[in-house]
Amino acid sequence: MASIIDEFSFNHPQNQGYSKSKRLVLLPQNDPSYIMLEKKFLKGWKHPNKQKPAVHGIFKILSLETSLEPFHQYRARVAAHPSLNTQKKNPANEQLLFHGTNRCCLLVEDGNRIRLCGLPQCHLCCVVRNSFDVTKCGTKHKFRRFGNGIYTTACSSKADDYTNNADNNCNLRVLLVNRVIVGKPHKRRQNATNLTEPPCGHHSVSKFSSQTDPCLLVQVIGEPGVDLNYEETVVYSNDAIRPAYLVVYGDEPPRTQSTMQTLIKTLFKTPLAQ
Ligand SMILES: [Zn+2]
Repeated sequence: MASIIDEFSFNHPQNQGYSKSKRLVLLPQNDPSYIMLEKKFLKGWKHPNKQKPAVHGIFKILSLETSLEPFHQYRARVAAHPSLNTQKKNPANEQLLFHGTNRCCLLVEDGNRIRLCGLPQCHLCCVVRNSFDVTKCGTKHKFRRFGNGIYTTACSSKADDYTNNADNNCNLRVLLVNRVIVGKPHKRRQNATNLTEPPCGHHSVSKFSSQTDPCLLVQVIGEPGVDLNYEETVVYSNDAIRPAYLVVYGDEPPRTQSTMQTLIKTLFKTPLAQ
């Protein structure tokens, strides 16, 4: 039986010409994924005290088959779980969720910077290259609300709190958008800092507060939080998550847009694969 090749795989026909040293695909602004992600980013910007930024560019992240395979296997295992396998659509409850981290280089800062750096402290490049490592997550932020896990959120303005540009020459900010296997989430109202895995029968730990996306409420019931203002979803397995996109955003449209436009022109000299 022929298997379906993941659209994020180097092996996918539309990703010809990309390789480990060139794994970021700039999406044109009329690409359906660009439109969907920009909407998700702007809708997820919920902090009233933080000015809503503009999206300047979105990149798709390509990965090796050897990296995607364990993710597919994990997704199939979760989808087969008795509490989920009756769902025809998206039984593993895969969601696209944001994660902010630190960037020590100038990746995607302008049209000439689409190659990953080799700095071990540049978590952004490390995740794009090798995906997440639960043992390294949260090393920067000592307080982990739900223990040692990989933290994501539908709230872009919350993920933005964790982005950090170590290089002073950065004008833009970057968020990772990730494919996360939420499965059957364990809903929590309060912190549980000693968790290392979800409780039996669950695949992730989620917490919501205030009004949230009604389609997410199907999976997770929002309750006003005691000590959490915005929702979070935590997974505890490296195979439950893969980076999928980078959203580049900021407050300086004129200069950055022109550099992004230069990049688009440079990259799209050859016809775009659909
Ligand atoms: Zn880097």
